[in-house]
Amino acid sequence: MAEKLRVLAVGAHPDDIEIGCGGTLARFALAGHHVMMCYATNGDKGHLEIPPAELAVIREREARAAAAVIGAEVFWMGFPDGELFYDRQTREAFIDMLRQARPDIIFTHWPEAYHPDHVAAGQLAFSANYIATVPHIRTAHPASDHPARIYYMDVAHDVRVEAAEYVDITEVYEMKRKMLAAHESQLEWLREHDGVDVLARMEARDRALGQLCGVMYAERFVPRGFRSAQRLLP
Ligand SMILES: [Zn+2]
Repeated sequence: MAEKLRVLAVGAHPDDIEIGCGGTLARFALAGHHVMMCYATNGDKGHLEIPPAELAVIREREARAAAAVIGAEVFWMGFPDGELFYDRQTREAFIDMLRQARPDIIFTHWPEAYHPDHVAAGQLAFSANYIATVPHIRTAHPASDHPARIYYMDVAHDVRVEAAEYVDITEVYEMKRKMLAAHESQLEWLREHDGVDVLARMEARDRALGQLCGVMYAERFVPRGFRSAQRLLP
């Protein structure tokens, strides 16, 4: 990986990309690549007591703190939590975001995920990736000169694992933990609403993926479209 890559993670909610690819982003950042984190929704419904308007502010602050752990650039799209749809206006917003980010690699959600926002974010990132290169599709920024390679994050849904690529994240695990821990309001919400210790669950998953490839902790991705023989992941 001599070439300097622009690496973008697109997640529906603040905390999704930390869990799904935080370690891999940390490795890219440490290797000197330009890392960007895009949060499609503002996460404003993810709490039992804090009202949405107030929560959106907290979650943006937490997301920026998580990105700061690895020095990533943030794209905060601000769609309401639970209301991310695949429609014309939203796709245009994704196209324009990609034209600003100009990524070589995109990490995003597997489009058959459990949460409709994840499904929409995965579909939007995938379809906007190609359309962003078409000059006659007009948005505020000029067309991208090439589409990115897409990798779906494996967060324990039924991805097609035969095509998967593993990344050893053992050495950056403390950074990954710190990125997720920045989302304090979410750790609380998932504990209270879903009875889940999300840090422990993430560690268990990453350890299980590590066992599959002979390291302590790993993340797993499924590539889609625009393949090349050369591996781009660290
Ligand atoms: Zn999510």
